[in-house]
Amino acid sequence: MRGFDALERLLQQIDGSGYGAYKRAAGEWYSRRLVLALDHVQGDPFAAPSCVRLELPLEVHGLPEELWSSRPRRVALCDFVARTFARACADGPRVGGSGGSGRVSVDAGGAEILARSACELTAEGALSLRFRVGLPARGRRVMGRAAGALLLRALPRASESVCAGQLDLEAARAWAALAEDHAQLQTQLRARGLVCFLRDGSVLPRASGVSAAPLRGAVPFRSPASLQVTLETLHHGPVTGMGLPQGVSVITGGGFHGKTTLLEAIQAGIDPHVPGDGREWVVTDPQVVKVRSEDGRSVTAVDLRPFIQVDALPGRAGRGARLTTRDASGSTSLAAAILEAHELGARALLLDEDTSATNLLVRDARMQALVERETISPLIDHVRALHEQAGVSTVLVVGGCGDYLDVADTVLLLEEYRVLEVSERARAIARELPTGRAPASAPAPAPSFPRAARCPVAASFDARRGRRGKEKIRARGLREIAFGEGVLDLGALEQLVDESQARAVGALLRRIGRLADGRTPLAELVATVLDEEVEARGLYALEARPELARVRVLDLGAAVNRLRSLEITEV
Ligand code: ADP
Ligand code: MG
Repeated sequence: MRGFDALERLLQQIDGSGYGAYKRAAGEWYSRRLVLALDHVQGDPFAAPSCVRLELPLEVHGLPEELWSSRPRRVALCDFVARTFARACADGPRVGGSGGSGRVSVDAGGAEILARSACELTAEGALSLRFRVGLPARGRRVMGRAAGALLLRALPRASESVCAGQLDLEAARAWAALAEDHAQLQTQLRARGLVCFLRDGSVLPRASGVSAAPLRGAVPFRSPASLQVTLETLHHGPVTGMGLPQGVSVITGGGFHGKTTLLEAIQAGIDPHVPGDGREWVVTDPQVVKVRSEDGRSVTAVDLRPFIQVDALPGRAGRGARLTTRDASGSTSLAAAILEAHELGARALLLDEDTSATNLLVRDARMQALVERETISPLIDHVRALHEQAGVSTVLVVGGCGDYLDVADTVLLLEEYRVLEVSERARAIARELPTGRAPASAPAPAPSFPRAARCPVAASFDARRGRRGKEKIRARGLREIAFGEGVLDLGALEQLVDESQARAVGALLRRIGRLADGRTPLAELVATVLDEEVEARGLYALEARPELARVRVLDLGAAVNRLRSLEITEV
């Protein structure tokens, strides 16, 4: 075991040497209190900073075990600890120098409470903090003394901010309680037949299109009386708000009255939010997925029935029911997104007319009369079967297409951001003003929505590129991953909210590639990797990067489905 004193000596020795000498500091160093590890040492002051880890055993951090007694509590505590540590580092002494010299960055923050590799608890209750440090340099020379002061003194001191004596235990408890209640309400939703719950008083709109902060002066959310439910929580007593029932729901209203805002809040309700966000008590079934049209996306071997008769598409006679295309249209991409989500176990779909191809949503009487050779059978004719036979609910925002009033169980009308339930009135209008359209001819053989089981082959995940065949999988921001020679577009995966999730998707694709054998269905591959790797061993074990965050089966599966190299064995 190498002690802190040995690292101190080493850093003095290499002071003024070429930057590469820092490599000798790689690995673990021990003090009586903690372990400091340099898991990756940068080769250059201008390169990506080094990965550093601090391990604080239970005896040292001394945080009460009740703070991590359940999974949601553990996630919330770690999230809170990472934010606290980030603040302590920001308050620490500055080190001058070249490149990212002396800069400490902790991947923490954001509106959601997320499991991150930046902070995890080990099975023994040790806190593991991971972050990046620009090892100090003057020009391209080691600043050994500054490195010693930073690594051996400033960082351990910052770590005291997360120990029992200093951490704001009351705030930590509040976060844990909030996250646990959120998770517990999520399980209650199912038993009560609800897709989501929005507590009265919630603040749904954000300050701007590029901000996650709540809009000040917003009209608080209020449930219509007819949909009001009261749910019990473990830590906050009964909470009252709108319970949106499973089935087919339509959200309508005039332009700019808050439809999209409501849908986006429901989308976001899969994750717990930090206190003060305004959406702390917006709770959505974790298996709810936003789908949208995505012109140009890649679709691989998806049986698009009953929405699209693939073998009747122009030029495709006799080529089977499954569609593979590297350039899907608005309607085929939406049909694929719906059926892929179902394959991955979605329990409800969220759609916004703004981002959905109209011809997949509906075909009115006139178009039915005019266009005979139509291969698309729109969602409106299947949305009820999707719910009744496959257990997949739909929540659809529509402004222009009243035909959906024929098939909706619940109709919400937004008026100046206030939600009214108008299901009865909508049914009366639907009777008085028939659309004249004929529902899709013969219904598909029951059950009309069997869950597909497409099995990817290993080659799908081959991201080698160039003559030397070096693997390249690198997230660029939240919406794109450079993958091999190409690009994986995550733009339609709206429920990914943090860049660290995109990085995790990249790392997970690599893992899935090792398990893919052409005989294991995609849904199983994705669940296995998430359960056996991430849940059991943590995100940092997946890849030693301090900026990874948890992703869901539905989003990871959706990423795989968009791989342009995806190959599915025909079974
Ligand atoms: P729609 O989809 O019905 O056209 P949006 O949801 O896009 O409407 O909302 C339009 C505008 O109203 C947005 O700028 C949004 O931030 C704002 N807004 C939404 N809900 C509220 C609210 N409850 N209070 C105040 N402003 C809101
Ligand atoms: Mg809108």
